[in-house]
Amino acid sequence: MSEVVVLLDLIKRQRSDKYRTFTMNAIWKYINPIARLGLAKYSPVPAIVFTSLMCVLVEFYNIVIRNEPDLVTFNIIFILLGIVIYFAFRDGVIGGLSATAVAVVYFTYLIITKIDPRSDQMDAAELALVIITLYLFASLVIGWLKQTIDKLIEREANEKIRLQSIIEQLPVGVVITDEHGRVVNGNKKVNEIVGTQIKKGLHVGKEMFIKAYSNGKLLSPAQWPISKVLTSNRPVVGDELVVYQDDGKKVHLQVSASLIRNKKGKIIAVASIINDITERKELEERKDDFVNMASHELKTPITSNKIYLDLLSNFIDKNEKEKALKTVASIKYQTERLQELVSDLLDVSRLQTGKLSLRKETFYIKDVIAETTNQLQESVKQELSFSTKVNPKVSADKFRIYQVLTNLITNAAKYSPKDSKILIKLQQDKHKVIVSVQDFGLGITKHQQKKIFERLYQVTDSKEKTFPGLGMGLYISKEIIRKHRGKIWVESKKDHGSTFYFSLPRTTKV
Ligand code: ADP
Repeated sequence: MSEVVVLLDLIKRQRSDKYRTFTMNAIWKYINPIARLGLAKYSPVPAIVFTSLMCVLVEFYNIVIRNEPDLVTFNIIFILLGIVIYFAFRDGVIGGLSATAVAVVYFTYLIITKIDPRSDQMDAAELALVIITLYLFASLVIGWLKQTIDKLIEREANEKIRLQSIIEQLPVGVVITDEHGRVVNGNKKVNEIVGTQIKKGLHVGKEMFIKAYSNGKLLSPAQWPISKVLTSNRPVVGDELVVYQDDGKKVHLQVSASLIRNKKGKIIAVASIINDITERKELEERKDDFVNMASHELKTPITSNKIYLDLLSNFIDKNEKEKALKTVASIKYQTERLQELVSDLLDVSRLQTGKLSLRKETFYIKDVIAETTNQLQESVKQELSFSTKVNPKVSADKFRIYQVLTNLITNAAKYSPKDSKILIKLQQDKHKVIVSVQDFGLGITKHQQKKIFERLYQVTDSKEKTFPGLGMGLYISKEIIRKHRGKIWVESKKDHGSTFYFSLPRTTKV
């Protein structure tokens, strides 16, 4: 119980401490004119209230405490001058003038009530006029100065906001350091790209805040582009680096950095632009792999055919008709493979240049699926089972739909055990038909599912790598379906099989 009381007391004390410092800060900010620089809020009220209070206090002191109701001391001139200067600095021209106005009223009161009307009143009025002119002058000059400073500070602050919002909206990462390489500014994009928070004050040239590699070698902080610019005084353009994010993701960066100088030519900052070029790099890598694999895939049937042709001439020489016919069948098979490969390559290139056109007609999609399934059953080991309860019509390119189906079914066969089943289904709703091809094979991880429809993407898992293919099929299928205003997607679980779906708009046309 006592602990609870102590705890509550602690919380209360902490709260009140916080509250106290908060109010102290607020009071300090209210009375300290330096803290109000740049605030550009001017009010006559504090000047009028405070100056009036001061005059009343002086009167109170003279009348009540010193008991000399007619006393007029010169000190009041300086006290009021101080107050006028203070308010001109706090509230600009309006503050200074308001304090001066109260002073005028007070001086008039003094002249009328405390100076002998017969002798000194004129002299006192003249003196008051001189003093008031001085007050006015101080109010105007100091007030104007204060307002000019406020404007400059505001302009500078606006400039900063403008610059920051431009930096934030850039599609690239930006880091700005001071002349020593200490981070002074940056945008959120840069944190996203490198996968770590680049905090203000970080010394890029000294602290190892992230591991970056160039040509496979780990960079020391002194080798970062920003550090290089500072030591060489020359800009760095397009340095390519690789960093690994916390989750192990490899990111390719392209970094440029240059010096920023002031009007006198003195270096005041370094600006660095960081571009995420991972996608481009991955595509380049895939293209290189593709050229390798494509040459290999094309070479295999050509080499086989060369061998078969030698065999064929041998069999013809020896008049072995049966063997010769078998060899011709093999040559035909290899030539068909070649033809498929070349037509896939042509399709990819047509898609790239936007030249793949559709020859649409209206037909029952069930017929095309049944035909494709029957035809493929002859070449795949697995049992293909097609079932449907509906018979919708679509307006599509028959050959291209056949091509997509063939790709999905041959993939299902390629990536699943020979003794498993492949289920092909056709469903419909009001607006579309949905075709699905389900296998019980290798399955695809979530990460790979996002990528398999990309151009030239192949799963690089060592198990899958053994299957021939160039990663073109699903890309071509996706583009064909997209051109039909349909959708293609996959649902899969690693080691449990995959279901590929595609949808097409239904047609009611005859
Ligand atoms: P490929 O010519 O390599 O088969 P695709 O574009 O047809 O090219 O497929 C891309 C990748 O998607 C394949 O390399 C394979 O890893 C994966 N994939 C496609 N279909 C399946 C499937 N039914 N089961 C498992 N993996 C598949």
